Amino acid sequence: MADQYDVIVLGSGPGGYVAAIRCAQLGLKTAIVERENLGGICLNWGCIPTKALLRSAEIFHYMNHAKDYGLAAEKISADLNAVVARSRGVAKQLNQGVTHLMKKNKIAVHMGTGVLKGAGKLEVTGDKGTESLNAKHIIVATGARARDLPFAKADGERVWTYRHAMTPKEMPGKLLVIGSGAIGIEFASFYNDMGADVTVVEMMDRIVPVEDADVSAFLEKALRKQGMTILTGAGVESLDVGKTGVKAKIKGKDGKIVEGDFSHVIVAVGIAPNTENIGLEALGIKADRGIIAIDDYGRTNVKGVWAIGDITPGPWLAHKASHEGVIAAESIAKELGNKDVHPHAMDRRNIPGCTYCHPQVASVGLTEAKAKEEGYAVKAGTFPFIGNGKAIALGEAEGFIKTVFDAKTGELLGAHMIGAEVTELIQGYAVGKTLETTEAELMATVFPHPTLSEMMHESVLAAYGRALHI
Ligand SMILES: Cc1cc2nc3c(=O)[nH]c(=O)nc-3n(C[C@H](O)[C@H](O)[C@H](O)COP(=O)(O)OP(=O)(O)OC[C@H]3O[C@@H](n4cnc5c(N)ncnc54)[C@H](O)[C@@H]3O)c2cc1C
Repeated sequence: MADQYDVIVLGSGPGGYVAAIRCAQLGLKTAIVERENLGGICLNWGCIPTKALLRSAEIFHYMNHAKDYGLAAEKISADLNAVVARSRGVAKQLNQGVTHLMKKNKIAVHMGTGVLKGAGKLEVTGDKGTESLNAKHIIVATGARARDLPFAKADGERVWTYRHAMTPKEMPGKLLVIGSGAIGIEFASFYNDMGADVTVVEMMDRIVPVEDADVSAFLEKALRKQGMTILTGAGVESLDVGKTGVKAKIKGKDGKIVEGDFSHVIVAVGIAPNTENIGLEALGIKADRGIIAIDDYGRTNVKGVWAIGDITPGPWLAHKASHEGVIAAESIAKELGNKDVHPHAMDRRNIPGCTYCHPQVASVGLTEAKAKEEGYAVKAGTFPFIGNGKAIALGEAEGFIKTVFDAKTGELLGAHMIGAEVTELIQGYAVGKTLETTEAELMATVFPHPTLSEMMHESVLAAYGRALHI
């Protein structure tokens, strides 16, 4: 007799495990199915272990600049194995945390590979054999993997995906990073701070291409100053992988091919959704190049089958996956008769994005260019870190904050930041966007002194010609 649940969640990343917790909180009998590690990519191979690596790189950077703070640090060195061991330890701690949360919420964990066998039916194959599970609703949350390039297959030795880059056997001497999205730039920043000679190749005409153009330009300048080589409008044409290194042919902006020798290559050209071989085709679930079509609550076109996280339209971020998980769980509870739950529709415009390079990048909402493209009359204000007392006291006077408003109504359309700790600051604007705030409310808000957050206030004031400290 197959186990019977209200909800089965397939995949335990930040989308899946959060959805399962919310289902359990709402009194639904819930199971989760996972083939690898509880917590998914985010906790085990993504957001968290990379931030642990970047923290080590940040401290190393400060130690190397101890003099700037009136301190002395001698014989500074980095032990890459210990840095990686710390990162893996952090991932393990969080993975155990998710195990605990599943127990605490009485969620049945089935370890194994799940395949949908019809609406409400799932087969799980694991170490203990194959078991059949039934549920009124299934939430598919199988996430994504690194996309590869046909001519740059990762071998874990010379050519790396993010998993190899997170657990390197050796420090790269000369590193080529293909792709300058958040993942590529974070690894470029980490290895650059740790002492590698880093080249980044980006096909688009600027790095971090989803960000505001001014942020891209500022970051490129900052990374060049740190010693990186950045090639934009350029593409890697081929890799000749040898035992001791890789020869890359790179087509530059001018169309000319140049050859470069590298010790290692990181391929960071995006992700591919894990939507093959899980029974979606047989059920007739609509997808476009593997990305499942959903409504604003996570419903697919097949009743009782829901999808969340990296297998649905982007942005492909952990907090977006979790938020979708909560909305789907609440929508299911409502469909099952819970009258006290009121799920809200997902608003993709209000999802902040962060890149934890050095300097950090963070944004929410429309860029200045996108706002203009959408027909808004735009009012934008920018305030530099150099005008902020706390930034100067921290020795972090590099960066700026830009705020974009609808000139007609004063509605906050977007915010874009580069500099120290901006990944913590952006949430202020995210709250503002959810509350549909205007310039008047932001101007009327009292910001504590001395903080970096004062720059948010100043950039709002700057949009209206009222900045005080510049
Ligand atoms: C290097 C790196 C750094 C990142 N940094 C950030 C960051 O700083 N901030 C941020 O917001 N996002 C970051 N991301 C993206 C983030 O990790 C993803 O957006 C997030 O993990 C997606 O969550 P998810 O629940 O959709 O899927 P995942 O986390 O991918 O989890 C899916 C789970 O499903 C399991 N699974 C798949 N198929 C099956 C099956 N058939 N049966 C059973 N189990 C299955 C997988 O094993 C996996 O555990 C980063 C990603 C990478 C790779």
